[in-house]
Amino acid sequence: MRITAIYPGSFDPITHGHKDIVIRASRLFERVVVAVAASTTKHTVFTSDERVAFAQTVFDGVPNVTVCSFDGLLADAAREHRASVILRGLRAVSDFEHEFQMAGMNRKLVPEADTLFLTTAEQYGYISSSLVREVASLGGDVSEFVHPAVVEALNRRLPRHG
Ligand code: ADP
Repeated sequence: MRITAIYPGSFDPITHGHKDIVIRASRLFERVVVAVAASTTKHTVFTSDERVAFAQTVFDGVPNVTVCSFDGLLADAAREHRASVILRGLRAVSDFEHEFQMAGMNRKLVPEADTLFLTTAEQYGYISSSLVREVASLGGDVSEFVHPAVVEALNRRLPRHG
């Protein structure tokens, strides 16, 4: 079966944890679409164009991974890309409740797609975009967690409190 998986998120910014999920998924599915949520309820440090550009840099050279942004419902983006799998990553039990609710809602909104979860590789389990932003804003070194282009952008963008 030729399955397209869509991997939605805010990716503010994309981390090595996200990358690990996508690279592993790229071996399972014919195509993986990284779908950057343009407007999210969260306040983002980076614009949607910047978040897309970082993801494109990270997956440059991976032939079956594409990056797009979407505005509005994931259900509509999933249909547009003919994705039959909605991919999400699970780091810890604490992620589960929210993910479980979203999967249920998306099953209602887009019954032709199933949500699949990949668990993070343990070395990335503690990485989150919000912690990366916080550490960077306090002057910490985040080069172990994100692409060098993201490190540079964080250093330019974030006010330093450290
Ligand atoms: P959202 O704002 O929709 O939660 P995120 O950009 O924070 O989007 O994350 C997108 C997806 O990636 C979510 O399923 C999240 O659980 C997962 N994820 C985030 N960080 C990691 C990580 N370090 N390892 C694996 N999955 C992760």
